[in-house]
Amino acid sequence: MKGKVYLVGAGPGDYKLITIKGLEAIRKSDIIVYDRLANENLLKEAKDECEFIYVGKKSNNHTMKQVDINKLLKDKASEGKIVTRLKGGDPYVFGRGGEEGEYLYKKGIDFEVIPGITSAIGGLCYAGIPITNRNYASSFHVITGHLKDDNKELDFKSIASLDGTLVFLMGMRNLKNIVDKLIINGKEKDTPVAIINWATRPYQRVVSGKLDNIVEIVKKEKIKPPSLIVIGEVVNLRDKLNFFENKRLFKKNIVVTRAKHQNSSFIEKINNLGGNAIEFPTIEIDEIIPNEKLAKSIKNLNEYSYIIFTSINGVNIFFDRLYKLGFDCRKLGDLKVVSIGPSTAEALKAKGIKADIIPKKYVGEHIFKTLKKVLKPKDKVLIPRSLNARSYLVDNLSNICSVDEIKIYKTVTPKVDKKNLLEYLDKELIDYITFTSSSTIDNFVNILGTKNLEKIKSVKLVSIGPITSKRIKSYGLKVYKQASEYTIDGLISCIE
Ligand code: SAH
Repeated sequence: MKGKVYLVGAGPGDYKLITIKGLEAIRKSDIIVYDRLANENLLKEAKDECEFIYVGKKSNNHTMKQVDINKLLKDKASEGKIVTRLKGGDPYVFGRGGEEGEYLYKKGIDFEVIPGITSAIGGLCYAGIPITNRNYASSFHVITGHLKDDNKELDFKSIASLDGTLVFLMGMRNLKNIVDKLIINGKEKDTPVAIINWATRPYQRVVSGKLDNIVEIVKKEKIKPPSLIVIGEVVNLRDKLNFFENKRLFKKNIVVTRAKHQNSSFIEKINNLGGNAIEFPTIEIDEIIPNEKLAKSIKNLNEYSYIIFTSINGVNIFFDRLYKLGFDCRKLGDLKVVSIGPSTAEALKAKGIKADIIPKKYVGEHIFKTLKKVLKPKDKVLIPRSLNARSYLVDNLSNICSVDEIKIYKTVTPKVDKKNLLEYLDKELIDYITFTSSSTIDNFVNILGTKNLEKIKSVKLVSIGPITSKRIKSYGLKVYKQASEYTIDGLISCIE
C-alpha cells in the first residue's frame, strides 16, 4: 500500500477544536508525530496499534530537529504507512508545515494538508477577545515575535502605524523589545494589551494591561510561553465576551481516579464545564479467564429467571463472552434483566437489551429491596460481577432463592506515576479528588502511600455514593460531598 502524510492542524488546545477531517486522519493513521502544542487527548482517538512519536518543540528547545522530523515523515510514509503530523493551531501559521510539505513534495511523497484553527484567532476567542470588531479594529496582523535570524529586527515603524489588532506569536522572550519599539514608533502608551498563556486549555491564564505596564505585569504574574500577545482596543471587550473563563468549573483542578478506559465521558463533562481533569487512574479491569463457570451459565442461560448487572464492565465482559460462544442478545430470551443504575442500563442498551428493573438508588441494598418483592423460592438468579464486590447482595438474595454469582473480572492497581500528582498536591493546586467506587479510594491510598495522606486532608474529596464514602472515612479522611444520585452526573453536580 502507498503511504501518505497528513499535515494536520490540531487547533489551539481545546481538543474539540480540531476539524472533522483532522480527526479522520488521526483515526486512520499508523503513526502520529506530534508536538507539545497539540493536545494529547487527541491521541486517544487513534487506532490501538498506532505508534506515537513526540517531537517536542518548546521554542528554542527542539526535541527533534526539523530535518529529522522531515526525514521521519518521509521514511514512515515510504514504508507504506499512513502518517499524521499533528501540529498545534494551523500547520501553516508559524508551524513550519510549509517546509514539511515542500520536503515531501521534493521526495515524491503523497501528502495532504488539513487546516486548523490557529491560536492567533481561536486563542483570543477563548480569552474573550474578538480579533476584529467594527468599532475597534478593521484588520488584524499576525506577527512572529522573533525572526529566523536573531540579529534582524521586525519593521516596527510599519507595524506601529497599523490600526488593526496586532497578535504576536512566539514573542514572550522579546516582549520588552516589542512594546518598547512600538511606543518609540508612535503607538499610544495606553493601548490595551493582553497576554494569553495556554489559550483554550482548562489552565488558560490571561493578564491584561497597557503597552507601558504589561512587561511589569507579566513579570509579576510569572506568565511564561506559550503565550499570545494581543495589542489593540479589542482587548477591552474581554469583560463582556469572556464565556470560557466564566464557565462554572474554570480554574478547578479535578482528579479523576476512574479506570482509564472508562474515564473519557467523565473527563469530557468536566472539560465542558471548563474544569481541568487530571487523570490518575487507580483501577484497571482484569478479566478472569478462562472462566468455564461463565461459559456454562451462558450456555444454560434459560435455566435462570433473573440476571443482575452491577457495572458496565460486567456487561461488556459478559456479552463479549456470549458473542464468542456464538450467541447474541436473543440468548437472554425472557430472562428478567436487572441493572444497578442508568449507566449500566445504557451499556446494556448498546448490546440490544432493555433493563427491566433499575432500583431507585444505585446500590446493592436497593437491588435487594426491589427484588425481594418479586422473587419466589423457585427463581434462579445469575450475577456476573467483580471479584472485589461486596457479599451483601448475594448473601441476602440467597435467603430467598438460588443464586449463581460468577466472578468475571477483578480490579487491579495499574502502574501510575504519582510524581505529577504529588507536585500538584504540594503546590496546593488540587481542588477536588473524585472517587467512583471503594476500590478507587483503596487503590488511591495504596498508590499515594499512607505517609502522603496528610496532603489530601485539605482537598475536597467527592464520593459517588454511601459505600464509597464509608470507605473514604475509614482512612480517617473527610468526605466533602456525596452525590445524591449515584452516577457520574450526580458526582458532577455536587462539584458544580
Ligand atoms: N501553528 C500554531 C503556532 C505555532 S508557533 C498556531 O497556528 O497556533 C508557536 C507559538 O504559537 C507559541 O509560541 C505561542 O505564541 C503561540 N501559541 C500556540 N498555541 C498557543 C496556546 N494554546 N496558547 C498560547 N499561545 C499559543
